[in-house]
Amino acid sequence: MVTTTAVRGPGGLDTADEDRTADNPLGRLVAGDWLLPSGVPGLLSFTPKFETVMERLQTVLTSTDPSDSPGPAWFAPVVPRANIDRAEYSESFPHLLGTVHALRPNTLADAAPDDDARVPTDVVLAPAVCYSLYPRLANRVIEEPHFFDAAGYCYRHEATSELGRFRSFRMREFVTVAGEDAAWQWRDSWMARCEALFTRLGLTFSVQSASDPFFGPGGRFMRSSQVEQNLKYEFVMPLHGDDPGTAVASANCHKDHLGERFAIGFADQGTAHSSCMAFGLERTVLALIHAHGDRLADWPELV
Ligand code: AMP
Ligand code: ZN
Repeated sequence: MVTTTAVRGPGGLDTADEDRTADNPLGRLVAGDWLLPSGVPGLLSFTPKFETVMERLQTVLTSTDPSDSPGPAWFAPVVPRANIDRAEYSESFPHLLGTVHALRPNTLADAAPDDDARVPTDVVLAPAVCYSLYPRLANRVIEEPHFFDAAGYCYRHEATSELGRFRSFRMREFVTVAGEDAAWQWRDSWMARCEALFTRLGLTFSVQSASDPFFGPGGRFMRSSQVEQNLKYEFVMPLHGDDPGTAVASANCHKDHLGERFAIGFADQGTAHSSCMAFGLERTVLALIHAHGDRLADWPELV
């Protein structure tokens, strides 16, 4: 008799331990010595083999950045709650934000403290890396465009956990804060660079106009307006044989939204604009594995 342990996911999804060995995309990646499942949906760990590719990918991304970056600055997986509030993240994506709570001191000895014993701290889990950057320019006028190369662990409380949709994942982001025209041009030049990069890496992809998963009553309007204004494009490709396509990277214009929220001015042009080019690192590695197979020794040199 086979017994399995069911684990209830964030969206009520059940996954069973038998998934780890079955002939399915996750099972195949576990068998190929790439992934280490945790038994909890959307939470995976990674083998040294997977991390070898991750390291090479990071090097390739560093050399793709035209601003001569020495490599990414690494940011903590938590960010001050005040910064996320100032960016108005929870107004658009309350369903994705993960919070950090601590036990009240007088309940520390309780064997099973209840929810009332938990109090929110002054940090939340980072939903994206670029929220660690804008606060660094807050409340000032910058005279030159700023460029950032940043990486970090992110958390999103995703409702589903199909392979590639993690709750904890790493992101590499290139970001600019600049004048309006420069921010648009920078985003478009990164799209061209990204297309060339993915082609060189042997990936087959499409570029799709997209929107963020806005929540709540204004969500539909925000979604359609984001698409109409071409604010977001995604690089979509399969992560495994049964995958019709997953966003591996996104190129985003925020217009002056974050400049306004963080009171950043640009020269004599008023509020600064910003753009970011975000790479989902685990998703990119999964796309590379899908394209080049299980035997790392057979892979093209670039990765
Ligand atoms: P976004 O800010 O939603 O455009 O996300 C930037 C990139 O992060 C995406 O293109 C994905 O590659 C990656 N990403 C976003 N959400 C997840 C997730 N739940 N699991 C893994 N990667 C993700
Ligand atoms: Zn970003």
